[in-house]
Amino acid sequence: MATDLEIARAATLRPIAEIAARAGIPDSALEPYGKHKAKVSLDFAAEQGTKPQGKLVLVTGISPTAAGEGKTTTTIGLGDALNARGTRTMICLREPSLGPCFGVKGGAAGGGRAQVAPMEDINLHFTGDFHAITSANNLLAALVDNHLYWGNELGLDPRRVTWRRAMDMNDRNLRNMVVGLGGPAQGVPREDGFDITVASEVMAIFCLASGLDDLQDRLGRVIVGQRRDGTAVTARDLKADGAMAVLLRDALAPNLVQTLEGSPALVHGGPFANIAHGCNSVMATRLGLSLAEVVVTEAGFGADLGAEKFCDIKCRAAGLAPSACVVVATVRALKMHGGVAKADLGREDLTALRAGLPNLLCHVENMGKFGLPVVVALNSFTSDTAAEIALVRDALSALGTEAVPCTHWADGAAGASALAEAVGRLLGEGQARFRPLYPAEMPLADKLRAIAREIYRAADVSLPAPVAARLDRFEKAGFGGSGVCVAKTQYSFSADPSLLGAPEGHTLPVREVRLSAGAGFVVAICGEVMTMPGLPRRPAAEAIRLDAEGRIDGLF
Ligand code: ADP
Ligand code: MG
Repeated sequence: MATDLEIARAATLRPIAEIAARAGIPDSALEPYGKHKAKVSLDFAAEQGTKPQGKLVLVTGISPTAAGEGKTTTTIGLGDALNARGTRTMICLREPSLGPCFGVKGGAAGGGRAQVAPMEDINLHFTGDFHAITSANNLLAALVDNHLYWGNELGLDPRRVTWRRAMDMNDRNLRNMVVGLGGPAQGVPREDGFDITVASEVMAIFCLASGLDDLQDRLGRVIVGQRRDGTAVTARDLKADGAMAVLLRDALAPNLVQTLEGSPALVHGGPFANIAHGCNSVMATRLGLSLAEVVVTEAGFGADLGAEKFCDIKCRAAGLAPSACVVVATVRALKMHGGVAKADLGREDLTALRAGLPNLLCHVENMGKFGLPVVVALNSFTSDTAAEIALVRDALSALGTEAVPCTHWADGAAGASALAEAVGRLLGEGQARFRPLYPAEMPLADKLRAIAREIYRAADVSLPAPVAARLDRFEKAGFGGSGVCVAKTQYSFSADPSLLGAPEGHTLPVREVRLSAGAGFVVAICGEVMTMPGLPRRPAAEAIRLDAEGRIDGLF
């Protein structure tokens, strides 16, 4: 079996200008980065704003397991299949982070015959956006410490600085540290630490910004810490917003690439789906909608995290209304939700499948709460049996939802043609009545309760008194209309990663709340959540190397 990298390398890519022309992007709007990547100019993106808009299709999934679900692969396969049936379709994805790439997960450019290319570039430095985001984050950090060093005119309490440094790497050693050691000439000592770039608020802002002005405004609103009296000090107070926006200007233009089958894809921005909202940039999604009849886009992790935030945070902020939703599931992952160990997934096991199915059913039902018609993409693995597939289809048809087996990983567009037909049917029927889960004016604590009860099926949330008091303070400071971004484990509907399937009646423990004033949401930290992941005992990096011809090897 060829690896993803071998399949990608065997494909003949077309010049990016040809892909652009097919997507309706003129040469004058293209800023090529080599032969197969280009940025689409911000001026062009802005002009496109008045054009008629295409339909937005969200691809989400069941709660992730170690078995792998294939949301990105399915987003690409579906986009290729829609294009193949003559529907002009743009694929919108996040940019991969180096952390997971060298850690446990490998690349994030799809897989098999459903990939975006050039996959080495996309997975590694790409067009430098993450570098720009990291730099903007760290410029602000440097300005904070410099301000403390030069007399601290703003009265920022060094013990209450919340802005952290960022790096796009999994490095647990950098989570907690003391900086500024070495005496008066070296700075003011204080506790600090690094987050991975995809967890930085700058990343979330970058992905929610509607243009350069909005980007600069949002950066100005970032809270870096507090004074002794509890009042906030912002990036604007430090006069950091302008220079941060300057560093991000070129990066804000969406990146155009192609799939192995020649479909256009915008790969832009990449926030975490726990501490942040987990979807690609608003700039790219809007550009796609102005160019294509259909935009297919992915939200990270399971539908409880990525899709909820896509609807309640991204779509609300950008005034978008999705028209349909694809929930990706695999028989293997459902068996894991039913208690089967990873090593035993190759064997037919209808009992375990039946036990794991509620995870899928629950996610499907949840998407209905956003007014979205749903189709399930059953991403086929060679180990799936006919009886297993029939069991999933029957369980879903009882809910009135179609489950379509697809083989785009093995077969490319042809393997997702039935899925494309089902999505086309949903779009044609026009049944979507999109609505966010909660209204903007609902109190923050109630928004949290709504998400916990309606989406996570929790009995309640536990809000310790200091947390409730902080939410109160956010409301008094005028942030009550913000969305709520829950940071919890992706493996379970609950905050306990070991509760697979569809647990009910649990309590969502809110440990801490943070205001991301620039992004425009309140982050609720529930359970153990990592903003700087570590590497596993055997990191993927160990298998990545250059071959005799200087080509990259081992990148999945
Ligand atoms: P997600 O976006 O849900 O995290 P991806 O689409 O990135 O998942 O896929 C995860 C991994 O699983 C990739 O390496 C991909 O090649 C692999 N994969 C996806 N679908 C299949 C399949 N049907 N058969 C075998 N491997 C698959
Ligand atoms: Mg993905």
